[in-house]
Amino acid sequence: TVRYYDWIAHHAMRTPERLAVVNLADGREFSYAQMHDRIGRLATHLSAGLGVTAGDRVAVLAHNAPETLEVQFACGRLGAIFVPLNTRLTVSELTYIVGDAAPRVMIHDAELAPTALEVAAACQTPSSLQFDASYEAALAAAQPLPKRAWAEVTHDDVSTIMYTSGTTGRPKGAMITHGMTFFNCVNLGAIAGVDQTTVQLLVLPLFHTGGLNCYVNPTLHAGGVVLIMRAFDPGATLRLIHERAWGLNLLFGVPSIYQFLCQHPDFDKTDFSGLRVGGVGGAPMPVPLLRIWEQRGVALQQGYGMTETSPAVLALDQADAAVRAGSAGKPVLHTEVCVMREDGTEAAAGEIGELWVRGPNVTPGYWNRPDANATSFTDGWLHTGDATRVDADGFFYIVDRWKDMYISGGENVYPAEVEDVLYRMSQIAEAAIIGVPDERWGESGLAVVVVKPGQQLSEQQVHEHCRAHLARFKCPRDVAFVEALPRNATGKVHKPTLRGQFVTEPE
Ligand code: ATP
Ligand code: MG
Repeated sequence: TVRYYDWIAHHAMRTPERLAVVNLADGREFSYAQMHDRIGRLATHLSAGLGVTAGDRVAVLAHNAPETLEVQFACGRLGAIFVPLNTRLTVSELTYIVGDAAPRVMIHDAELAPTALEVAAACQTPSSLQFDASYEAALAAAQPLPKRAWAEVTHDDVSTIMYTSGTTGRPKGAMITHGMTFFNCVNLGAIAGVDQTTVQLLVLPLFHTGGLNCYVNPTLHAGGVVLIMRAFDPGATLRLIHERAWGLNLLFGVPSIYQFLCQHPDFDKTDFSGLRVGGVGGAPMPVPLLRIWEQRGVALQQGYGMTETSPAVLALDQADAAVRAGSAGKPVLHTEVCVMREDGTEAAAGEIGELWVRGPNVTPGYWNRPDANATSFTDGWLHTGDATRVDADGFFYIVDRWKDMYISGGENVYPAEVEDVLYRMSQIAEAAIIGVPDERWGESGLAVVVVKPGQQLSEQQVHEHCRAHLARFKCPRDVAFVEALPRNATGKVHKPTLRGQFVTEPE
C-alpha cells in the first residue's frame, strides 16, 4: 500500500532536524521529527483514548495553529477523516455541518470552546478535545502509534471532508481522497517551484482549501517550512515579508488579501524582493490590482481552483504573469479541462462556456448529497459552474460564475468584468455588481461601492467612468454606496447577501 499522507514521517526520517512549522502567535517552532512524534502520539490518543477508527470523522474548530495540521496527519495514520470547520460560522450553521459530518470527536481551541461544545452537544458528538495543556498532557501520556498499527489506505480512500465556502448556497462537504491531495502537491508544487527551500507564510484559514492546500500541504510534502499566522493581519504580513522572516519566500492569498495589503500604509515601503512566489486565486482577481503589485515588482501568479478539486485546476506560469495579466493560466499537470456550451457541445476558442474538469484531483462526490452528485458530474467530468473562455494561445480566463451572470436587454453581463472597470477608479476601495430586475431590460446592473476613506465619489462619476470603458448594456444603472461589502470567511464577496439587501422580490 502507498501511504500518500506520510510526508511528515518521510522528512522526519531523512531530515529530522529540519524546521517544519513555526507558530507565529507564540513563537513555537517544530522540526519534522517533532511533528512526526506529536502526530504519532495524537494518533494513539485519538484511537486508544477516544475510540477513533478508520472511516470515523474528526472535526476541528480552531484558529490557524500547528495542532490542526497534527490532527490532519494523525487522521491519515488512522484512516480517519479530517473535517476542518469554518471558525466564522454561527452555532446554527455549524450544527448543520457537524450534523452532516457526524464526527466521533470535536477538537477545538480554547477561544472557540463555547461554540464547539454547544455544537457538539446539539449534534451528540461523543467526545471532545481542546488544544491546551490537557492536549499536551494527552500527547505526553501516549506513545507514538507504532508503524505496524497505521491504517492501510489507498489513494482512493477519503482523507478529508472539506465544506465548500457557501458562496452560492449551503456549504457542501466535498470528499477529498488521499490521492487528490497527493496530486495537488505534485501539480501545484511543480507550477510554483515548491521545494525544500520554500518558506511559506500562511495567512488564509486552514479550514479552506486555499489555506490548507495552497501551499501548506505541498510545502510540507516538499520538506519546506510553513509560518502559521493565526488570522490574517496585513501589517504583520508586510513586516514579515519585508524582514524575510525565517527566509519567507512564498505567499498565497485570495484577491481580498492582496487588496488589503496594498491599501495598508506600509505597502509602499515594504521590500518584496524576497518573495519568489505570490499566488492568488479563489475569486475574480481585478487586473488593476495585478498592476499595482506589478509596479512593486511582484508578478502575482493567478490560479483557479475549487474545494472539489483540492484545489488546483489552472495556474499561470510566473514567466507569463506579466504578459497574460488576468488569465488563470493553463491546466495543471494530470488535469483535463474543457469548456462546454449549455447544450452539451464544446465551445469554440474565444467563446464563453462552462468549465468542466476531470482528473485524479477531482472529488468522487459530495458527502450525503446524492442530489448535488447527480447534477454535478457527467462521465467523470465535474461541472464547475464557472463561465470561462480560452484565448487563441490556450490561456484560460475565468469570466465569472454562471449564477452571477445576468441578462440585460438580451445580452449576457458578467459582473466580474464590470467590477474590473470599477477598480480602475482610484477612489474605490471595494466594488461588486449584481443583476437586479429592470422593467425595460429584464435585468440591469447595480454597482455596490465602498469609497476609500477620505475620498469623494459621486454616482455621476461612476456612470461617466463606466460609459467610457464599457458597452452601454454592461454599464450599471444604479450605484449604492456602502461602508463594507459582505464577505464570507474566505474573503469572497457574498452576493446572495447583497441581493437580499438590494433586490426586493416582485410582489
Ligand atoms: P460554494 O460552492 O459553497 O458556493 P465556493 O464555490 O465559493 O462556495 P470554493 O470551493 O471555496 O467555494 O471556491 C471555488 C470557486 O471560487 C470557483 O468555483 C470559482 O467560482 C471561484 N474561483 C476560484 N479561483 C478563481 C479565479 N482565479 N478567478 C475567478 N474565480 C475563481
Ligand atoms: Mg462552489
